[in-house]
Amino acid sequence: MTAVATATSVKHYSMFIDGEWVDADDRVTYEIVDPATEEVVATVPRGGRSDAERAVRAAREAFDKGPWPRTTAVERAAVLRKVADKIRERAEELAVLETRQMGKTLADSLVDMNDAAHTFDYYAGLAVEQHGQTLEVPGDSLSMVVREPVGVTAGITPWNFPVLMAAWKLAPSLAAGNVMILKPASVSPLTSLEMARIFDDVGLPRGVVQVITGPGGEVGDYLASSPDVDMVAFTGSVEVGKHIMRQGAENVKKVGLELGGKSPNIVFADADFEAAIDGALIGIFAGSGEVCSAGSRLLVQRPIYDRFVGELVSRALAIKVGPGLDESNEMGPLVSRQQLETVERYVKIGVAEGAKLATGGHRLEGPGFFYEPTIFVDVDNSMAVAQEEIFGPVLVVIPFDSEEQAISIANDTIYGLAGAVWTKDVTKAMRVVKALRAGITWVNTYHPTYSEAPWGGYKQSGVGRELGTFGLDEYQEVKQINIDLTDRPLGVYQHGKEKTDGKVVSLHERRPFGRDEVKGAWVRFCQNCN
Ligand code: NAD
Repeated sequence: MTAVATATSVKHYSMFIDGEWVDADDRVTYEIVDPATEEVVATVPRGGRSDAERAVRAAREAFDKGPWPRTTAVERAAVLRKVADKIRERAEELAVLETRQMGKTLADSLVDMNDAAHTFDYYAGLAVEQHGQTLEVPGDSLSMVVREPVGVTAGITPWNFPVLMAAWKLAPSLAAGNVMILKPASVSPLTSLEMARIFDDVGLPRGVVQVITGPGGEVGDYLASSPDVDMVAFTGSVEVGKHIMRQGAENVKKVGLELGGKSPNIVFADADFEAAIDGALIGIFAGSGEVCSAGSRLLVQRPIYDRFVGELVSRALAIKVGPGLDESNEMGPLVSRQQLETVERYVKIGVAEGAKLATGGHRLEGPGFFYEPTIFVDVDNSMAVAQEEIFGPVLVVIPFDSEEQAISIANDTIYGLAGAVWTKDVTKAMRVVKALRAGITWVNTYHPTYSEAPWGGYKQSGVGRELGTFGLDEYQEVKQINIDLTDRPLGVYQHGKEKTDGKVVSLHERRPFGRDEVKGAWVRFCQNCN
């Protein structure tokens, strides 16, 4: 059922380009739909190429001539702290909007707002703390390294954590003195536009932060390919990530990619049973499974396999699915009809491949894009449902016997984003997490994320890191400056010189080449000298 709200109840948002709230050049708009009700929440401009060009021109001007890159770290930190405060002040309102545009539970949205505010505070601190280097070098020289902003950066974000992914990009980019154009996912741009409002309110100079809404294939594509954009920080699917890397290669721009995953969650027989059940549920059903680091492959050691599966299924059946704004619900809808259909397609594939459907496997009746928590058991790691990112509430459970086998199955994937191990044996835990080819690992927990720690993947899960000190490095160029302290020439090309009374004079005192003082033109005076 599709319910279309009346025009009066639908708010219209504008984009934020060059310090102004504007509509698309061609005035075209599109609708943002609440995935829990299928009602239209708002309309936004469908930005296109000419809007993106305008944003890039304004960003270039702001970086090349504007005040922001020339501020001190202390000044930038003060602005970032104001942004953090504003996000906290408006957290509830922003969280409701986040839930309405993309479906996650209100509790999850509130966590995102808090994390986003913390990210701005964290980079405010780091901006001031981070320094260059002076180096011990041979000779009478001084060598130093200074950090400089990269320039015009573009942030392209997905729909699953709109505010948080924007914060992960904006905070380090601005802390380093860059300017940024943000292109949020087409289905969920509203909170990013509210973030632009916050930047406008704290008085950031024009062109430093801009938010442009519109289709990825047009606006995002232009940002990735424009020679006037120095860096693209992208979070999204592997497919689009590869495309952005190719686009960026045309002008050798810096590209940061945070892509998908199919992360292993490994439960050994000696794990704390209750904690591991809880971690398995959170690993896959948090955020309706629309989480890049979801523990979507659950590996369970054979001695506890049957008991674990039995308990897991009964707990999954009890998960309360419904609109995220109703705080009694534990899992919201999927973001869109398209995502719902993707999940349905994968479940059909899993059944056809011979995986045993233990629970779920259906969409819920009524409006909204709701899907049951779904668990496949006795899955072989070679199946498509074990290899491909479904990005929904679908867990595959794979039995294993030995530690070596668990590691081998865990790493048998094109992805390398995250992974967890559950055991009371600390040395085994360390052996396994060290062996995992993944950028984010947990022991006896799943999903906690810290702004202080680097986030990113191995293999096809990405390039570069966000967050932590590593995340700030990505938004900086480093320049070495070498200073000679002697005032002496390097003295390599000496054949044309001789010493007379301690003074260095030219052998060709008649000058082989010079300006004819009468005619004013350059002349070679000596034809045969060498
Ligand atoms: P997506 O790749 O479809 O879109 C991501 C962004 O790219 C959107 O803003 C989209 O408009 C834009 N885009 C689309 N086509 C483009 C093009 N041709 N050129 C430039 N930009 C383009 O991803 P999604 O469906 O929004 O998000 C889900 C994906 O994001 C999943 O694969 C998930 O694993 C991944 N993700 C990764 C992380 C991480 O940190 N590694 C975090 C969240 C989501």
